[in-house]
Amino acid sequence: MTSQKTRISTDLDFERPGKQISYLRLVHSDDRHSFGVIPVPIACLSNGKGPTVFLSAGNHGNEYEGQIVLHDLIRNLDPRVLNGRLIVMPALNYPAVLGASRTSPIDHLNFNRVFPGDPAGSPSLALAHYVETEILPRCQAAADLHSGNPNSRYVLCAYLHGGGSAEFVRRKIAAARIFGAPWTIVAKETSNTGSMTAACDRLGVLMVSTELGGGGTIDRHNLAMAKAGLMRLLHHYGVLPTRAPQEHFSQTRLLVPRGGAGLVMVPTRGLLEPCCEPGDRVAAGDLAGRLWSLDELDQPARELRFAQDGIVCVRRVHVPATRGDHVAQVASEVSEAELIG
Ligand SMILES: [Zn+2]
Repeated sequence: MTSQKTRISTDLDFERPGKQISYLRLVHSDDRHSFGVIPVPIACLSNGKGPTVFLSAGNHGNEYEGQIVLHDLIRNLDPRVLNGRLIVMPALNYPAVLGASRTSPIDHLNFNRVFPGDPAGSPSLALAHYVETEILPRCQAAADLHSGNPNSRYVLCAYLHGGGSAEFVRRKIAAARIFGAPWTIVAKETSNTGSMTAACDRLGVLMVSTELGGGGTIDRHNLAMAKAGLMRLLHHYGVLPTRAPQEHFSQTRLLVPRGGAGLVMVPTRGLLEPCCEPGDRVAAGDLAGRLWSLDELDQPARELRFAQDGIVCVRRVHVPATRGDHVAQVASEVSEAELIG
C-alpha cells in the first residue's frame, strides 16, 4: 500500500536555500473541488547543512495556538539565521482547518489516526501517506502542535508518546524539558499506530507534540510560551544556532494520564457545572463537577467526584453534557526514573 506512488505534487524544491512558500497539490475531485485540487499550504526555510525539522499544526483543524505559532514563524523567521531546514505545515489537514473541525469534513477521518495513510485513499489518507513517505524521511526531528479542542482545556504541556526504547524516550523527555512548558504529559500506554507520533517513532524522528490549552480560542499566555518554547526546541534540535529565548520557561513536570478510574465521565444528560480547573491537584473524593437535571427540578445536582488523586490534566468546556462525555481526567506526577526505570 505505502509502496504506491503519491498523487500529491508540489513545485516546492526541498533542496533550495531561502524561504519558499507553496502548496501541496492534493488531487481530489468532488462537488466542492471541481478543478480536482486541494491546495495544502507548506513552507520551506533553509540555509546551511544542518538538520531538517518538520513543524506542523492543524492536524486537528479546531486547535488554534499552534496554527498561529507557525503562521507567525513562516512570516517572521529569516531563514539566514538557520543552519538546516524547516519544513512547515501550519494547516496540516487543510480541509479540517477550513471546516474548523477536528476531522476532515470530506472523509470524516481523524488525521492523527490514519498514518501510514494510503496514496490511493481519501484526502486524509493520501496526505498522511505523503507526510510519512515524502516529508518525515527527510527529517531528524519534528514538532506537531496540538491544543485541546473546543470542548477541552488542557494544562499547558508538551505531549510525548512513551513508546520506543528507553533511550529514545529519554531523548524525547530531554527535548520536552527544553521546550519548557509547565507540564509534560507522557502517554505511556498509547499504542495507536495511526498517530503522527507513531509515524515519527517508526522513522526514528525525534518528535515533541503539545497540548497548548484549547477551548476553541487562543490563550495569549500559552501562545507566548509556545512561541518561545518552539525557538528553544529548534535550538536544541541544532537548526537554530542563535541563542534560544529564556522567557516563559518552566522546569517541566512529568504527568502520566490515568485511564479508567482517572477519567470522570458524565453519567446522564444534564448541565455540567465544572468544579475543577486544569492543573488543580485533587484527591480521591474531591468534586470534579455537578450535573444539573434539566427536567427533574426536585432532584439535587448530582455530584461527580474524582476516584483517584492526581493533577487535573484536562477538563470539559461545554456545559450541556450527556452520558459518556468527559468531565475531567486526572494524571499522576512521576519522576523520569519512575517513568523509564
Ligand atoms: Zn489535536
